[in-house]
Amino acid sequence: MKAHDGMYIDGSWRPAAGPDVIEVVNPADEQVIATVPAGTVEDVDAAVRAARAALPVWASTPPAERAARLTALRDTLVARQDEIARTVTAELGAPPKLAQAVHVGLPIAVAGSYADLAATYAFEERTGNSTVLHEPVGVVGAITPWNYPLHQIVAKAAPALAAGCTLVVKPAEDTPLTARLFAEAVHAAGIPAGVFNLVTGLGPVAGQALAEHPDVDLVSFTGSTAVGRRIGAIASGMVKRVALELGGKSANVILPGADLARAVNVGVANVMSNSGQTCSAWTRMLVHRDRYDEAVELAAAAAAKYGDRIGPLVNAGQLQRVRGYIEKGVAEGARLVAGGPGSPREKGYFVSPTVLADVTPEMTVAQEEIFGPVLSVLRYEDQEDALRIANGTVYGLAGAVWAGDEAEAVAFARRMDTGQVDINGGGFNPLAPFGGYKQSGVGRELGVHGLTEYLQTKSLQF
Ligand code: NAD
Repeated sequence: MKAHDGMYIDGSWRPAAGPDVIEVVNPADEQVIATVPAGTVEDVDAAVRAARAALPVWASTPPAERAARLTALRDTLVARQDEIARTVTAELGAPPKLAQAVHVGLPIAVAGSYADLAATYAFEERTGNSTVLHEPVGVVGAITPWNYPLHQIVAKAAPALAAGCTLVVKPAEDTPLTARLFAEAVHAAGIPAGVFNLVTGLGPVAGQALAEHPDVDLVSFTGSTAVGRRIGAIASGMVKRVALELGGKSANVILPGADLARAVNVGVANVMSNSGQTCSAWTRMLVHRDRYDEAVELAAAAAAKYGDRIGPLVNAGQLQRVRGYIEKGVAEGARLVAGGPGSPREKGYFVSPTVLADVTPEMTVAQEEIFGPVLSVLRYEDQEDALRIANGTVYGLAGAVWAGDEAEAVAFARRMDTGQVDINGGGFNPLAPFGGYKQSGVGRELGVHGLTEYLQTKSLQF
């Protein structure tokens, strides 16, 4: 057990203002592996003041120099990737292969993409008799969740730094150790003191203090819709910019002409990966009634095969929540065809890959985000019915369409109320905008759209 002291503020590790700590638990064996300081309002204030003081110099640093620092940051993450992956495994429970390939591989790609964008983006442009300047928004408060501990930070920090903003990050309580490694990487990359600051702490204390701080110009939040609503209300009351990446209940629509086995297998892997703790997971599989029974059989077999490749859920609370949803699904009439609410192991917060069949659109498991390895398979009559079901939740983050004919899939995707749609298994693109329609959020992350979130425009007329 390691007791970490200090938080990364103004370029060094400073002792916390208060005595309280947060215990970090390995969800695979329920052992406490470390403690980190629980930051207070005072710590948040010190971090925001450091970020404010560093802003003028960083904002006027030439973009090519900011790009060079981001390249150094990417290289540091590459050099320390094994240690970061082990840390993600220890505090989140992600299996080692997933930790390397996705939890570390993806943020390395994202950091690299923002090094490129900082170097190439037109921060000034001409239109008519005007020069338009794209200037940094200012001091950013970033509040991140535990499901992708490094990626969620990099998806905010890299574009903010590329834009010329300074920032304070408040990472999730469950996964502060990966965040600390990221702060070390920032330091090693030569990013000047005060430009990036890290305050560990509880959401309602440190997170709320950050959102409410009058010297924070933009709050970027990823997490639950309930907390997102609160952050949105705080930001609108203070007229500050806000970006919200919230939940999802994405539909995987399998049209009649699709390669059913591939669509189901990829769909099941998409839901089970990271133990279902992915906001964009395709948790509702929609299948035409003529192929429904075959699809359910394939899904149950794929889930069973996924079996022990799955890691635990992040904490005991999430375990209770996910079990509760599976039980509720069965109580409302869904048919359990794989997995279930029971514990597959003695220790750790594990849930078996679970498939619920005969799910109807109004059931709780078809409407609410479960955030566990649970797939709901729904039946549709025709394409209009499929579209109604796909669009019939408060969310709209991602989704997929499979069809024999790509044009048919694209035509369907155009009618989906969602921010991202995968066509016939196209795969994730770290340069494509990511974010929600409807209650899945406000704003976009990744690629050039992620960069512009951190910019504001000024026009000079000549
Ligand atoms: P959460 O929204 O409570 O936590 C996310 C972040 O917000 C954490 O850093 C937390 O400390 C902080 N926070 C909490 N309360 C706050 C407050 N009052 N003011 C400011 N910051 C605050 O999410 P959770 O409890 O960790 O997870 C619950 C559910 O949220 C999950 O089951 C899932 O449905 C959803 N979730 C979504 C995502 C996503 O990527 N969209 C990620 C994690 C969780």
